[in-house]
Amino acid sequence: MHPIFSRFQVPVILGDGGYLIELERRGYVESGSQREKVGTGKGSGQYTPEIAVENPEALRQLHAEFLGAGAQVLQALTFFGTREKLARAGYGDRTEEINRSAVQIAKSVAGGQALVAGTVSRTQLVEREGPRGLELAEGHLKEQVALLADAGVDLLILETFFHLAEMKLALSAAVATKLPVIATMSFRPKISACSDGFSPADCAKTMVDDGAIAVGANCEQDPVRMREILSLMRQVVSVPLAAQPAAFLTTDECHSYTRLPEFPNALETIQVSRDAFFDFGIDAKQMGIGFVGGCCGCNAAYSRALNRGLLSS
Ligand SMILES: [Zn+2]
Repeated sequence: MHPIFSRFQVPVILGDGGYLIELERRGYVESGSQREKVGTGKGSGQYTPEIAVENPEALRQLHAEFLGAGAQVLQALTFFGTREKLARAGYGDRTEEINRSAVQIAKSVAGGQALVAGTVSRTQLVEREGPRGLELAEGHLKEQVALLADAGVDLLILETFFHLAEMKLALSAAVATKLPVIATMSFRPKISACSDGFSPADCAKTMVDDGAIAVGANCEQDPVRMREILSLMRQVVSVPLAAQPAAFLTTDECHSYTRLPEFPNALETIQVSRDAFFDFGIDAKQMGIGFVGGCCGCNAAYSRALNRGLLSS
């Protein structure tokens, strides 16, 4: 097991919650719903992290809330921070500045109390252009990983990848930095396979083989539905699992909240209560989870509930 897991002397490391949905609700982030059909992969820049340079105080505040809720790892808001994705929102030429600023803000709030992770997600090139998008994606992922490593993050979290092929490119770049790397896939529209057809078990094995210190799932499903993915992964890998469920309910027909008609403008109507996160915290250790946090829809109240669950188990 990687030493990062013994550093905190707890069985399960607590991460933070979701940033972009919460900051969109607070009025600082563009959901894209007014200018495109979101969730199609043809997007022009929804949920991008330019807040790190445009409203740093608002970002600092949310970090502080998660730290106050007990987070031991703060994720710099570098999600969707590749030059490719930022360019779609009109911020491509500020890629370096946005990534550096996001890391700096997280580090200043963490103040040595929490580790700071750089977050890297998919480019959306594969969704838009198919497999030929992979070639272009590789350069963008490498560039962002290098920016985050240079900015001094303590670890890297690769998350919300839909295609295992794109995750492999990100992992290769991330592992080359020698930083610890946590890797989580997002499954949609069903949890049975990722977008290029690999089962949760196949994804877990591949991510471990490619050097991740913890593997799992994030986003799209609430804690109850995500358990199924994690138990399939648990059967095939021995590293700690990583889980960051979303706080939105899905349906038996569609297991991903971003594919539901409620995304993004009626998410309040499918919000899961924080009790589900308390329960998830209670069971986390027994499920073999070593790193747990919340994804979209989880504010500090959810993090506190999760933390209470962890502490009561
Ligand atoms: Zn999410």
